[in-house]
Amino acid sequence: MKVGILGGGQLARMIALAGYPLGLQFVILDPSDTAGAIGLGEHLHGEYDNQALLAELAEKADIVTYEFENVPAEVASFLADHTKIYPAANALAIAQDRLTEKNFFHQLDIPTAEFAPINSLEDLQNAMPDIKYPAILKSRRMGYDGKGQMPLKISADLPDAWQSMAGAQSIVEGFVDFQREVSMIAARRPSGEMVFYPLSENQHSRGILRVSKCCENDVLQQQAEEYTTRILETLNYVGIIAVEFFDVQGKLLANEFAPRVHNSGHWTIEGAETSQFENHLRAILDLPLGSTKARGYAGMVNFIGGLPTTTQVLDLPNSHMHLYDKVPRKGRKVAHATIRADDPELFSNSLKQLQDLAQEVDDS
Ligand code: AMP
Repeated sequence: MKVGILGGGQLARMIALAGYPLGLQFVILDPSDTAGAIGLGEHLHGEYDNQALLAELAEKADIVTYEFENVPAEVASFLADHTKIYPAANALAIAQDRLTEKNFFHQLDIPTAEFAPINSLEDLQNAMPDIKYPAILKSRRMGYDGKGQMPLKISADLPDAWQSMAGAQSIVEGFVDFQREVSMIAARRPSGEMVFYPLSENQHSRGILRVSKCCENDVLQQQAEEYTTRILETLNYVGIIAVEFFDVQGKLLANEFAPRVHNSGHWTIEGAETSQFENHLRAILDLPLGSTKARGYAGMVNFIGGLPTTTQVLDLPNSHMHLYDKVPRKGRKVAHATIRADDPELFSNSLKQLQDLAQEVDDS
């Protein structure tokens, strides 16, 4: 069985690593010949909209998946016509556009921050009395890791903020005064079977995820599962999904979802019975889904911009290093480490030490 992956970065790398024990082979389309997953499969070297390469991918792969949600709609529909692509194009179309996504959440009765569509400075000025300060202006498309986002504190911020969007269709969102950020990683297979991981509690800084911790038996688990079920069933979804929420005094507000494996689920590699990567493959191949149970206390720390030595990480009890084979560059995720432990104190000590190591090399 051959699985095609659009994108050859760290997510594709971890999908491929999880697929080897299942006897899977991979064919990876990526414009770079130094991407981290190259070498774990056959590399189709070129742009994502290269028709000849897409035809070759469709021909070689029994099924195609992707590691980023900005797959152009025409590419997804070409692949759907010539092979199978999971998650399907309907999920991509929604996740690619923050306005469509927020409207979709509302249609499913899933609460979000206050928001309004913005296509001009005038729209923004008219929206602010309802949205209220502080707020965030976000481009509807192509935003990730806090890119394409401008904070709005007072009305004098509006002209510059709108100008920085360079005319891109945008939305304005009220700033959410949240207690926590959490994400739900879940999988669904074509038969409708679903599994849900324990919630991840996520710490971001400057829009980039730094730390995720598994929260077993969280009070918000059930609410998150209910909202995620609505999304999965409405879309007839197949694969892993990550839904990001703000916890505002015990109530969840949905921020966004990613139709793919997700950084906040990396702790599942050693920290859960079945990793998100394996469950993604099981789901798209319509194999029985694996247990999502946590193996004790589990967490993950990202290394951004620089790397500690592998020895420094592995010196910490119960830690595991995951290198992405990427050259460190300012603000670039180059690796993560996971910690898993049966003892809560050992877990928090090791996690704290990992965070210190990450901070020492962080240049973002
Ligand atoms: P996003 O690209 O929407 O995931 O935003 C990246 C990060 O910015 C989020 O994980 C939050 O930490 C922060 N953020 C985004 N939108 C809001 C909001 N409306 N209120 C407060 N923080 C936000």
